[in-house]
Amino acid sequence: MSHDGPAQSASPNKLVIRNIGLLLSGDLDHPILDADTVVARDGVIHIVGKEKDVDTAGATTTIDANGTALAPGLIDSHVHPVCGDWTPRQNQFGWIDSCLHGGVTTMVSAGEVHTPGRPKDIVGLKAMAIFAQRAFQSFRPGGVKVFAGAPVLEHGMLEEDFKELAAAGVKFLGEVGLGSVKDGVTGRRMVAWARKYGIQSTIHTGGPSIPGSSLIDKDMVLETDADVVGHINGGHTALPDDQIMALCERSPRALEIVHNGNERAGLLALRTAKELKQLHRVILGTDSPAGSGVQPLGILRMIAMLSSLGEIPAEIAICLATGNTAKMRSLNCGLIAAGREASFVFLDTAQQSAGKNLLDSIRKGDLPGVGMVVIDGAVSIQRSRNTPPATRVPEIVKS
Ligand SMILES: [Zn+2]
Repeated sequence: MSHDGPAQSASPNKLVIRNIGLLLSGDLDHPILDADTVVARDGVIHIVGKEKDVDTAGATTTIDANGTALAPGLIDSHVHPVCGDWTPRQNQFGWIDSCLHGGVTTMVSAGEVHTPGRPKDIVGLKAMAIFAQRAFQSFRPGGVKVFAGAPVLEHGMLEEDFKELAAAGVKFLGEVGLGSVKDGVTGRRMVAWARKYGIQSTIHTGGPSIPGSSLIDKDMVLETDADVVGHINGGHTALPDDQIMALCERSPRALEIVHNGNERAGLLALRTAKELKQLHRVILGTDSPAGSGVQPLGILRMIAMLSSLGEIPAEIAICLATGNTAKMRSLNCGLIAAGREASFVFLDTAQQSAGKNLLDSIRKGDLPGVGMVVIDGAVSIQRSRNTPPATRVPEIVKS
């Protein structure tokens, strides 16, 4: 298995994607763009437009989308990696590569909490976070970017520790509440220190998920004021409905719905956010690996579930897993727009779906077929081994 990141080539790389049937931008305000061509240079989107208006000459790689839909690569806002492409939770290899086949190109760690013998002293937890950040920066399963190195808060951490972690490249905290810090006052102080040094925080919301974690109710979430209300639908046990609604109403932070939570509670959070006209705060994760396993299609399943049962257009549901997450997590991916990372997933209606087109099929609850995934301007996979087969697939016509 070759899993390291793509080698940097000295010569400029021009990718042209043409004949796009539907361009899903990832932007909640403009989810569908009137364009059929995307040009990227050296892994960055350069132009999005109509083929007749775009300079497609000199491409090093040309992809004929064959009328399929192009969306930004999906982002899983909540994963628990450990080391390499292995998870001890289910003793499974290759789980990140499997998620790539579900269209995921970026993952955000909510803590490497499944690491056997995970250190809980402060020197140890900082060392582990820096190790994980470094390791996943240079080791990219199938090309997937994993933002790992998310330390779990323990009592005794000082402002200096957050400064040191930030200087070492740590960008995200592990879920607040998974370590010994379980009170709002201490949590709030540490979250504020992290924020001061540019480290984003997520709070574990709901019932306990792993031994040592405990119930985090709405008062603790509101008091801590972490940047992301992590799995608002529970991981695995959700808060009571009135508390979920109170968090949607009273917290200004991102509302994360996960696959490994309570589906009914996830739909309640979605509907509440929609009524409050706060859909831009809704982001999606899987919280895998977990007790219920690894879900390579977890993000696609969330998109289909929220669109079909939550009654939102499919193109909007896709924004929750792309542009919304990128904005809330300050990532330069998740949108098909000039200047963004050229990471894409090509989607088409699954074969034999009752839907009359891709968006209609998702709205009816079917999963789309993934025909190709591109990361940083390079083709990572062609037809997915995990989704139902797409009716049409793109083709590399020149490389
Ligand atoms: Zn989690």
